[in-house]
Amino acid sequence: MDKDKIQPIRKSDGKGWIDHGPRNYNRDLENPNILIPPSTDSGTLSNLRFSFSDAHQRLEEGGWAREITNRELPASTDLTGVNMALEPGAYREMHWHKEAEWGLMLYGNARVTSVDEHGRYFIDDVKAGDLWNFEAGIPHSIQGLDQGCEFLLVFSEPDFSENNTFLLSDWLIHTPKDIIAANFNKNIGDLEPLPREQKYIFRANVPGAINEVKRDSAEEPVPSPFTFHMEQAKPIQCEAGRVRIVDVTNFPAAKTISAAFVEVEPGGMRELHWHPNAAEWQYYIQGKAKMTVFNSDGVARTFDFQAGDVGVVPNVAGHYILNTGDEPLVFVEIFRNPIYSDISLNRWLATTPKQIVCDHLNVTNQFVNSLPDEKTPTPVVWYKKDAKKSSLSKGNNDNTSGW
Ligand code: MN
Ligand code: MN
Repeated sequence: MDKDKIQPIRKSDGKGWIDHGPRNYNRDLENPNILIPPSTDSGTLSNLRFSFSDAHQRLEEGGWAREITNRELPASTDLTGVNMALEPGAYREMHWHKEAEWGLMLYGNARVTSVDEHGRYFIDDVKAGDLWNFEAGIPHSIQGLDQGCEFLLVFSEPDFSENNTFLLSDWLIHTPKDIIAANFNKNIGDLEPLPREQKYIFRANVPGAINEVKRDSAEEPVPSPFTFHMEQAKPIQCEAGRVRIVDVTNFPAAKTISAAFVEVEPGGMRELHWHPNAAEWQYYIQGKAKMTVFNSDGVARTFDFQAGDVGVVPNVAGHYILNTGDEPLVFVEIFRNPIYSDISLNRWLATTPKQIVCDHLNVTNQFVNSLPDEKTPTPVVWYKKDAKKSSLSKGNNDNTSGW
């Protein structure tokens, strides 16, 4: 019985003892590095993981939404995430908010619309792997197309709530009728059909093609698109995976939030690194991973992740992310900073005079000569090179998923 179950006993040093229960065994199985932390973990570090599966689900007619804010994950100091789905035709109502919104399509297709402060319009259709960005105060709508859609939204404040946005329906409900009538150049009697309660997410019909629905009267489009199609990003290709960076330099409309899309082969690892300018907010899209975060003064803690989980790395804290599954690991690192930046331990050592490295690591010149020669960035490295090769490394990455 208990003997067949994994137990909080570390093989390397024998520390720990049997857990006779009560125990939530499924959770233990999901969290081998929390049940049995590596002996290098040390000190007290906040919880750095929360799963959307543990987040309150707001069910609406035609879709759902759930969020991970600093109420769920207090260690998140910069950003909030929302996971949302819309059935074919359903809308996320026309609205705006105080925070910048960065969106990543995870499944299906959707249409986004917006207008900027100069009256210039934006409309585009997006599919899995595509992004959008609406800076603070810029209004927008999202509508599921024929496949319906699921997406991740990231907002530029840690205490944002998707339940507190500025909705068109709410504004009209909370404005005197005579004012609305004057504004729309209507009689009060004409306003009978207007919504009497908040809409937020609601059902509707799948719209026609963009060229069929675009208004003739519309002004010019916005000069820089509010969407980004992932094929526009040039990957940093490594043997063990690849990274695509999307920030203000290749997606100029995203003036607040940047991201790196990371794919790691089975047996691969996102190398030891940190980010000098921001905390990292992670969303795991596919596969399984473990991450150890080193947060100065000998404090370190290891977490396990799988698809649907969110992780955070405090500002400038060192970390690696290892693919612990047998399929490619796909996750996205997101930052409240318009420009992506990182510092690689390997590059740091490879660019420092050899004697300095020898003196710090207590090693010979020969040892230093054989360290990775980081003339080009290698953000993903091998942990175990003989692991099963996936479609990613064979170059036949199926693009229908957008990844
Ligand atoms: Mn929004
Ligand atoms: Mn990172």
